[in-house]
Amino acid sequence: MNEFVEAKVDFKWQEPKKTYDVIIIGGGGHGLAAAYFLATRHGITDVAVLERKYIGGGNSGRNTTVIRANYGIPESVRFYKRSVDLYFQLEEETDRWIMHKQKGLVWLAHSEAHVRQEKARAELNTALGAETSYVTPSEIKEICPQIDITGSGQWPVLGGSYHPAGSTARHDRVNWALAEGAMKRGAHIHQRTEVQDLIIENNQIKGVVTNHGKMYANKVLCAVGGHVTSIGDMAGLRLPIRTHPLQAYVTNHYAQSFGPIISSTSLYFYISQTARGEILLGAEIDKQPSYSYRSGYHFLQTCSFRAMTMFPFLRDLRINRQWGGVCDMSADYSPIMSKTEIDGFYITSGWGTWGFKAIPASGESMAALIATDETPDLIAPFSLDRFKRDRTMADRGSAGTH
Ligand SMILES: Cc1cc2nc3c(=O)[nH]c(=O)nc-3n(C[C@H](O)[C@H](O)[C@H](O)COP(=O)(O)OP(=O)(O)OC[C@H]3O[C@@H](n4cnc5c(N)ncnc54)[C@H](O)[C@@H]3O)c2cc1C
Repeated sequence: MNEFVEAKVDFKWQEPKKTYDVIIIGGGGHGLAAAYFLATRHGITDVAVLERKYIGGGNSGRNTTVIRANYGIPESVRFYKRSVDLYFQLEEETDRWIMHKQKGLVWLAHSEAHVRQEKARAELNTALGAETSYVTPSEIKEICPQIDITGSGQWPVLGGSYHPAGSTARHDRVNWALAEGAMKRGAHIHQRTEVQDLIIENNQIKGVVTNHGKMYANKVLCAVGGHVTSIGDMAGLRLPIRTHPLQAYVTNHYAQSFGPIISSTSLYFYISQTARGEILLGAEIDKQPSYSYRSGYHFLQTCSFRAMTMFPFLRDLRINRQWGGVCDMSADYSPIMSKTEIDGFYITSGWGTWGFKAIPASGESMAALIATDETPDLIAPFSLDRFKRDRTMADRGSAGTH
């Protein structure tokens, strides 16, 4: 049976209106979550989500679904911890099975510098409630028997950090659960509706121009993932974002159970097992900025080579599928959740390679910001003007594979 058939998602598609209280550009996880939390936490349901393709067709349906809070600066740990907590309750809250599974996550250290970094990460995370512990090579071998702790004699594992809350969830189901929850409370979602321009009068947002005509709202949220600089251009905003492709692939079915999520900070790859039993691998972003969704052989070759040094069993598997998405990489590797210089125009961006895990907390926080026009404390450090104020939130060591 198709694993999605029994989900029976109850979408209520509506005819577009001319005017809404809030328009959200982008039907990825962040746009859908903002609509969901506007409806459920603030009773704001006169909302339209405008999606140029189909919901979840961007990165929110293309990612490798790692959820974690083991970041390197306090502001990020607090924010992602909130998101991890919301993920743990999302199935009950939406009454949808999003296939959330706690697996535990290990970050491998292959150098003394990385050992120190992972020890510091464990201390900081734990102090802020995101439990993480330093683990020795033999403890890592116990957590993941498949690992070659010598790294094929080339990349010996010297230690690592273990974050038990590390988990995954089925990305489509997360998108659909949030979309359904928003729609059944009255929000509209319009697919195949591309925003081509913004309507701004006297520095106040008034609406958007789409391929189906104009739509008006005094509050507009931009949640378009890797396409954010195009919308920024329409608003006359220069954003500290570059778009880079990111690729991933899955193998055929691996008969044994591969329990945790493992990431190597030196070899720049990460590995986990899907619910279907495939082994899922990802690596760093493509070096060349681009809006291309194409995936290529070079990625497969280099990622597989590195992964096989730590996990020799991969040699016996075949590659089944590969794909790519386009990531909105911020200059300091942290997100931007913010008002802008344009009144009523909000932005959630800079989600790069790490934004799936952030969907619930970003949706909750952006909904509060839009509803009240007050920036919640949790996201205040991530405002756009931090780049002007020289208050960047550099956390490169937590951006996974860079
Ligand atoms: C291969 C890969 C692996 C990843 N792995 C992880 C991971 O393991 N963990 C993690 O936390 N994150 C991961 N990420 C990052 C994560 O997927 C993204 O940060 C997150 O999904 C961003 O969500 P979003 O809603 O901002 O953007 P998207 O999901 O990309 O949604 C934006 C939407 O806006 C639409 N849009 C664009 N322009 C317009 C327009 N003009 N008008 C209307 N609609 C428009 C797009 O069609 C798209 O559907 C990964 C990303 C990729 C590509």
